[in-house]
Amino acid sequence: MLTVAIASEFHAYDGELYRYLLERVLGTPVHAWESELKFDGCKHVRKQAGLYLNTAAKHGVRHALVAVDNDGGSKRRLPHHPDHDVAQQSANDDGCRVCWLHSAIPPDWREDPYRSCVIVPTQTLETWLLIAKGHDFTEPSPEQRYNRQALKKDCYGKPLPSSQVMKGKALEWLQHPEAITRLSARPSFQAFVDQVKRW
Ligand SMILES: [Zn+2]
Repeated sequence: MLTVAIASEFHAYDGELYRYLLERVLGTPVHAWESELKFDGCKHVRKQAGLYLNTAAKHGVRHALVAVDNDGGSKRRLPHHPDHDVAQQSANDDGCRVCWLHSAIPPDWREDPYRSCVIVPTQTLETWLLIAKGHDFTEPSPEQRYNRQALKKDCYGKPLPSSQVMKGKALEWLQHPEAITRLSARPSFQAFVDQVKRW
């Protein structure tokens, strides 16, 4: 059993889906570290990530996952590139969200014995869910479907069911035998796998 501090936009939905994906990718049971801090949206995750991870470290946690949706477009929040200047990207609201989130990870959490992983699904976690369930995208690539509301509607219909129902459906899709193979073809998911495989 591996305990992981998961900082995500909404613990009871995003957080649980990331926890499940960690289990699938690592092949081991994963327990989400419980904290009094409840995240509410992407800006809150970035703002509180340092405090959250430092508190987790004091409680003996050594693994962390920090995640937000990209919520980008064709000209803003373009995918991360290794040549990115983290300071420059993270100073710009339309810059790269991977860099933006990396800049919130405390220095201690960047080296042994701590293992951190930054995840930014392009464009939303629902993009990953649609890929996992084999959705037929009309765009040339799934990442080019930008509208957040449309992605949620594609997943769950309208009006949206409760987060509890959404979580149940999402976990079903992620349990599909082909789900991880389908997801692994997408760069933002592969970036996640590459990080946790180094744990
Ligand atoms: Zn970047």
